Formats: sequence, structure tokens, C-alpha cells
Amino acid sequence: MSHSSTLPRYAVIGHPVAHSRSPRIHALFAAATGQALTYERLPAPLDGFARTVREFHDAGGLGLSVTVPFKLECLELAATASERAHSAGAANTLAWRGGAWFADNTDGAGLLNDFARHVGIDDRGRDVLVLGAGGAARGILGPLIAQGPRRLVIANRTPEKAAALAQLFAGRAGRGTVVSTMPFAALGGQRFDIVINSTSASLGGAASGDAMHLPPALFAPGALAYDLTYGPASAAFLGWAAREGAARCADGLGMLVEQAALQFELWRGVLPATDPVLAQLRAEIGAGQ
Ligand code: NAP
Repeated sequence: MSHSSTLPRYAVIGHPVAHSRSPRIHALFAAATGQALTYERLPAPLDGFARTVREFHDAGGLGLSVTVPFKLECLELAATASERAHSAGAANTLAWRGGAWFADNTDGAGLLNDFARHVGIDDRGRDVLVLGAGGAARGILGPLIAQGPRRLVIANRTPEKAAALAQLFAGRAGRGTVVSTMPFAALGGQRFDIVINSTSASLGGAASGDAMHLPPALFAPGALAYDLTYGPASAAFLGWAAREGAARCADGLGMLVEQAALQFELWRGVLPATDPVLAQLRAEIGAGQ
């Protein structure tokens, strides 16, 4: 048996997963904290999530980062889950604990940590638009609403999914926060302080607001445009947002690193520093790696 096969084994599972920077991030965390482990990419067929997870565990796997489009299935598969995964109805993390899978959702906390530590913004008292109603949106909506925005609008290509999420999350809003939903076409004339693209349109290269058929002039003065995707994949949406008047643009690399740090803590019991890893990844992406 080779040495590496005896190390604790982790992976990112998704479809697609070839683009993922998670293996690099967890390798940097492991080096910085002195943890010996392996972390690989685990592609799963669209109809083969549960089978792939089972085979991974049979081969000694102890934990998984779960990405598009398996976050809802991830929660269903787990025997137990954190409160934040239950309330999101979606999970992005599996940890093998006491003979079964435990699911967590670190996306929302990762976004808020990125907002606080790197972007320098919070959504308290703001008008916020969340584009998309998939697994990632489910993870970020609860934490965003808990901060107390003035207005949070969920808009999605398939309006019924946005309506279902608005119904799910509206009851969790405090006084002073209005949660609602609008079809893309009905957003015309609305202004937002923070516009978050949580769609997976960027992965297909079709995420400019024009390609998504978003109306113009969505950005209030000083507004932030934030894309959950990162690096070159976020260029279409953020370029469109800048042309439309967004004062600040940020990609989701900081969120990716922050949510990964919380996964690493769950698996290994140690919280790694995020600033040096984010700086390293920015440099690598800037150098075209
Ligand atoms: P998902 O569950 O598959 O949901 C995809 C969402 O994107 C749905 O709302 C879908 O709308 C919408 N969509 C897809 N193609 C579209 C298009 N061409 N035009 C408009 N809307 C489109 O995926 P997810 O798990 O939510 O992930 C979404 C994205 O967030 C992915 O790019 C993922 O990599 C990224 N992400 C980043 C982080 C981070 O840490 N930075 C964390 C989580 C996720 P319909 O309902 O109409 O199909």
C-alpha cells in the first residue's frame, strides 16, 4: 500500500468539477496547518451522486465538498445535518462521523466572512437582489436575511423556484426586512445596493446580464455586484455590471476560500488562516494558472 493511500482522504464532488480550485485551497490549508491528507477531484454523473459518494467512502473517503448540482441531494443523502444545512434545505459539505454522513452548509457563512473580511460590506439596511434559486442561493439566503437587509428580492430564470424560496425564507425575516420574488423581466425600474449572481450561467459562459435577459439600470449609486463564480468565469457578469454602473465588483473567490476554511475546520478540527491562501490563489489566477 502506498503512503498516500493511508492518509485521510477528502475530495470535491460535482458535475462539472474539473474547474474547481478546491483541491489547491485544501492543499494550501493542509500545508499551513501541518495536516497530512489527500484531496482530489471526484466527478460524478448527474444520476450517480449517491453511488459515487458510497464508492468514495468504501475506498476510505472521510469528507466531501459538494458542488453544482448536487447540494440538495447531498442533504437528502446525509443521516444527520447541521441546523444551517437543514434551514437552507441544501448542503455543501459531508463529513463521515460515527459511522454515517453528517451534512453541513458553509456557503452562507463563507459569503458573509468574505463580505466582512475582504469586500468590506454588509447587507444590513440595504436593498439586495439575489439572482438564482439553486443550491448556492439556498445556502446564502438565510445568513443574508439574518443580517437584516431592508429588502431582499430573489429572481430566477424559472420563477417558480424563486417563489418557493421566497416563501421558505420570508418567515425568517425580522421586522424591517421584506423578502419577495420577481421574474427577471419585472426587475426593470428597480435599484439595488447589492446584486449577487448565484446562477451557474457563468459556468456556461452565458452570464452577462444581457445574456440572462436582465433589464438595465439595476444598480443604485455605490452598488456592489458580486458573482459567486470566480476568476475568468465571472468576467461576463461583472463586466456587464460595471458597464451598467455598478461601483464595485467582486468575484466569489473570497467566498470559496472562506467556506472551504469552515469545511477544513469541520473535518480536521483546526481553522486555517484564509488571507494568505486567498492572496496565493489571486496570484495564480492572475498568472493564468
Ligand atoms: P444549481 O443548484 O445547479 O443552480 C443553478 C442556478 O443557476 C439555477 O437558479 C438556474 O436557474 C440558474 N441558471 C443556470 N443557467 C442559467 C442561465 N443561462 N441563465 C439564467 N440562470 C441560469 O447550482 P448552484 O449549486 O446553486 O451553484 C451556482 C453557482 O454558484 C455555480 O457557478 C457555483 O460554482 C457557484 N458557487 C460558488 C461558491 C463560492 O464559494 N464562490 C459557492 C457555491 C456555489 P433555473 O432554476 O431556471 O434552472
